[in-house]
Amino acid sequence: MGATSLDCIWIAGLIKFLQLPAYNKPMNFLITGAAGFLGSSLANQLAREGHQVRGLDDLSTGNPQALAPDVHFTRGDVSDRPKLWTLLQEVDMVYHLAARVSVPESVLYPRDYNNVNVGGTVALMEAMRDVGVRRVVLTSSGAVYGDLAEQPLRESVTPNPRSPYAVSKLAAEYYVRTIGGLWKIETVGLRIFNAYGPGQHMPPSHPPVVPHYLRQAQRGGTLVAHGDGSQTRDYVYVDDVVSALVAAATAPNINGLVINVGSGTETSIRDLIKHVLDVTNSNPEVLYNAKTSGGVSRMRADLTLAHEKLSYRPSIKLDQGLRLTLKSDPRFK
Ligand code: NAD
Repeated sequence: MGATSLDCIWIAGLIKFLQLPAYNKPMNFLITGAAGFLGSSLANQLAREGHQVRGLDDLSTGNPQALAPDVHFTRGDVSDRPKLWTLLQEVDMVYHLAARVSVPESVLYPRDYNNVNVGGTVALMEAMRDVGVRRVVLTSSGAVYGDLAEQPLRESVTPNPRSPYAVSKLAAEYYVRTIGGLWKIETVGLRIFNAYGPGQHMPPSHPPVVPHYLRQAQRGGTLVAHGDGSQTRDYVYVDDVVSALVAAATAPNINGLVINVGSGTETSIRDLIKHVLDVTNSNPEVLYNAKTSGGVSRMRADLTLAHEKLSYRPSIKLDQGLRLTLKSDPRFK
């Protein structure tokens, strides 16, 4: 027996009531910062799922070779409005990842961080308004919280940014939410904690701690920790971050929110080193430099909102993620 038009109306009403995402048809995405560590993983995942993906990146640190051939890549600056106008045509939504991402570098060059991370975000929002693109996911950072005693870190606490990088990410959050509200652009900010995994950029002057320790351990070099190594971070594997980003494309009722994306666990530098020595099966020298500060003392993401709004459940434990990184990243072969 075929469905009557009354059945169809009833089913359509039920879907609307449940607010199920209309995700069955391929979507058209623009990803800024697409050639970066997280951007390339996201772009390749969306392309695998059958979506049309355009990527923009100025290649200041990104690597276009990391992108699958069916990702349409354009080299350019995120503040280049004519380029954005072209790239945004027919786009359903934007993932905005392009940013300068180093905390120590931001202390030296705060104006550059402001220009790219804040100015670039505003330029992108203006271009979205001009073209009529109505949804953006911003990658913010757990760094916006700074050093807070109350753990785990909930989105509702008042942020206490401790670096120009963190200030720039918080300002970008406020900008997208405020002008998004004024211009009827749906926005969500994902506060990503310490992401790691294959392909993470490793600038020699300030490499992120996870790939740096893996490489040092493999090469038999010394592992240096700032402070006494008791400071904790929430390390989250890249695939878990990508799953949250993908969910944010279509999740209902998230307009204007910021949502934590981490592992929900905290690991001290001492414990991270133990995991690194274990997975690399090495026994290098480890130096705790009491004269330097370990920075923020504790970081652990509260994931209640991410579970509720994005059905987000991180699935990769730290030692598993470290092994996957070693296996999948040719730089560790
Ligand atoms: P990444 O450096 O690998 O990626 C950033 C990309 O942006 C690079 O490819 C770079 O070339 C590009 N870029 C920089 N300036 C640009 C500009 N002016 N115009 C166009 N492209 C530009 O860093 P990532 O780790 O992949 O970070 C991606 C995003 O996630 C960033 O917004 C970062 O703040 C955020 N985030 C990352 C982490 C993490 O642990 N990796 C944690 C919190 C937040």
